Amino acid sequence: MANHLRQQAKLSVYGRKSRKCNVPKSEHGKYLKVSQYYGENVYNYHLSKSLSLEDKDALKQVLDGKKNIDRPLATKVANSVLEWANSKGATHFCHWFQPLTGSTAEKHDAFLNFDNDRAIETLSASQLMQGEPDASSFPHGGSRATFEARGYTTWDLTSPIFIQESTNGKTLVIPTAFVSYHGDALDTKTPLLRSDLQMNEVMTKFCRLVGMKDVNKVYTTCGAEQEYFLIDKAFYFGRQDLVMTGRALMGSLTSRNQQLEDHYFGMIEDRVLAFMQEVEIELYKMGIPAKTRHNEVAPGQFELAPIFKDANAAADNNQVVMTVLRNVALKHDFVCLLHEKPFAGVNGSGKHLNWSMATDTGVNLLEPGHDPHENYRFLAVVATVTEAVYRHADAIRMGIASHGNDHRLGANEAPPSIMSVFLGSTLTEILDSMISGGKYVASSKTLLDLGARQLADLVKDNTDRNRTSPFAFTGNKFEFRACGSSASIGYPLSILNAAAVDVFAETNKIIEDELAKGKSSDEALATVILKWYGNAQRVVFNGDGYSQEWVKEAEKRGLGNMRTTPEAIAVLKDAKKTNFLVKTGVFTESEIATRHNVMLERYIKCRDIELKTLSGMVLKNVIPVAVDYKAQLADSIKKQKEAGSDSSLELEILKDLAAVSKSLYEQTQNLISSLDAIHKHDEETVARKIAQELMPQSFKIAELCGKVEEIVPDDQWPLPKFYDMLFIR
Ligand code: ADP
Ligand code: MG
Repeated sequence: MANHLRQQAKLSVYGRKSRKCNVPKSEHGKYLKVSQYYGENVYNYHLSKSLSLEDKDALKQVLDGKKNIDRPLATKVANSVLEWANSKGATHFCHWFQPLTGSTAEKHDAFLNFDNDRAIETLSASQLMQGEPDASSFPHGGSRATFEARGYTTWDLTSPIFIQESTNGKTLVIPTAFVSYHGDALDTKTPLLRSDLQMNEVMTKFCRLVGMKDVNKVYTTCGAEQEYFLIDKAFYFGRQDLVMTGRALMGSLTSRNQQLEDHYFGMIEDRVLAFMQEVEIELYKMGIPAKTRHNEVAPGQFELAPIFKDANAAADNNQVVMTVLRNVALKHDFVCLLHEKPFAGVNGSGKHLNWSMATDTGVNLLEPGHDPHENYRFLAVVATVTEAVYRHADAIRMGIASHGNDHRLGANEAPPSIMSVFLGSTLTEILDSMISGGKYVASSKTLLDLGARQLADLVKDNTDRNRTSPFAFTGNKFEFRACGSSASIGYPLSILNAAAVDVFAETNKIIEDELAKGKSSDEALATVILKWYGNAQRVVFNGDGYSQEWVKEAEKRGLGNMRTTPEAIAVLKDAKKTNFLVKTGVFTESEIATRHNVMLERYIKCRDIELKTLSGMVLKNVIPVAVDYKAQLADSIKKQKEAGSDSSLELEILKDLAAVSKSLYEQTQNLISSLDAIHKHDEETVARKIAQELMPQSFKIAELCGKVEEIVPDDQWPLPKFYDMLFIR
């Protein structure tokens, strides 16, 4: 029977038990507190016995960006790292980097070496600091001729070295940046680090200008909430589409899915909780502060949120989180799906980037504060960020573009592809009233009052959480909600930072000019608020971002709405829209061209795989089942007739099935020939045609498959169904 494997998969899932893992315990067998083992797999130079106090001091200066690391110090650090890694039982090290695939890459080397004939462990300064992977094997968007295949990984001192444990050993992981022979960034980390440096410069200046004289450093903070699906491994491997593309390309939705709203924050089943607990233990050991876990909206969907960190560490951590989720899931006989839209009809997964700026003196610049000075500073920061999103909306939209995310954005479950800013009614009213009374704001007692009185509490209490906004102010940070669940956050973060740097540089200039005119710092900030909020007001939208009215309204306001990835990627070819990335030093022109090519190529490749997988499954799985069932029905009709019985029911089902499957077959053949024909065009046209013509075709095919699935008896259907995957655990 064709259904044999599906039934077997179900049976194996019914028997699953929650997995027990090694929960860290003391020698006496008592459970350890998390704080007792948190970060035990992270290298901490402060604890090194081989580094002298002077060495540690020198290293601290390097880490603070005050000087470069020299060879003798690097050698000492390498020795200290090796000593630590050996004491933990690590046998290998790897340079870990984030190429433009969106995921991570690593090549492991053993510490093993020989001293004459004696086996020893070594890690040299150059092994620590630089690696040389073959860049031509990673996406490079044609940025170099193939003979210049060399690429370099260089140690990122600002992100901690850690040990990754696996079933039979441990590996030392060295976070690195990945650049080409000519110094072009071939990764997501390098631009992020650059954007962070620029943010530091421009925001430190801002702080000092407005009277925070003791600020020496400002960094962007980020907490990335990660959504994911868990389905049983047995079902996963029964679906070629999930294995090949991460998405169920067809499938009939169950009658109960998420409409009862009973999964979100519902009780976490034991088998899932056991998984989450093991994930958290792994993360804690690697110094990743997982804080929140809960069921998400769709059945089978969950979320993990960490405590925020500086953006670079948060970006690295999020990559580790995704890896750990996937690896630990398998141990629990689950598969963790990080795709943005694994199942049509229920919610997809996103990654909410909570984003703010913090000073080395411990001030969060998006904290409303309590006195008028802080209020004006806060409002100016909000106004500047609002202007940044308004001015660079298209580039920000581009930064989250991917074939997977196309299924989410604007699909009435995730923020639309229109970039708008939610400020909430209180903040909007305060800013609006400043605008309307604009002329006399700086001197007016009433408006000063309005800016000051209870602002902090008002904004904090403003708990109306607008889940429909892509960029929402949530009390003391912005939450960028439109990112895809599988994406690297480094890319959108670097674009967001660059946008902020661009406008804050102008903010600083305004303040300088005002101060030079003899204005007070508050008066200068008021000028900033009026200028930016006055200009960017139209990007502020506090209503329902999922509604059709908003789409129309946004069009009237002149806001962009790039629904598909090919449209969004085109931004990278528009110098007017990408200039700020170059001006702020976050990307070079050639890096922008590289990203354009890589994103375009990935879009086409991923869609090509999807479309081929879909047509393959139709022809090999769906049509054969339809044909079988048609034969059964025909046979039955014939027999009924012979027996003189009424066969009108069978006849009706047969007609229905015949029509649906014939149409399915024809449309699939059409898709196959369209896909063949399309590749004669240039890549940009191919991508556009895929998005505009082939994807709608594929959705129709998926719908017809769903109809066949509904007609064919359940026990004859070979592919794990949505019901199996989303509900059986
Ligand atoms: P809520 O979604 O209810 O606001 P939290 O305040 O706990 O929940 O924040 C959700 C996420 O935002 C967490 O990952 C958290 O670490 C992060 N976050 C909180 N404050 C900041 C901040 N100042 N900068 C960046 N991320 C932050
Ligand atoms: Mg959430």
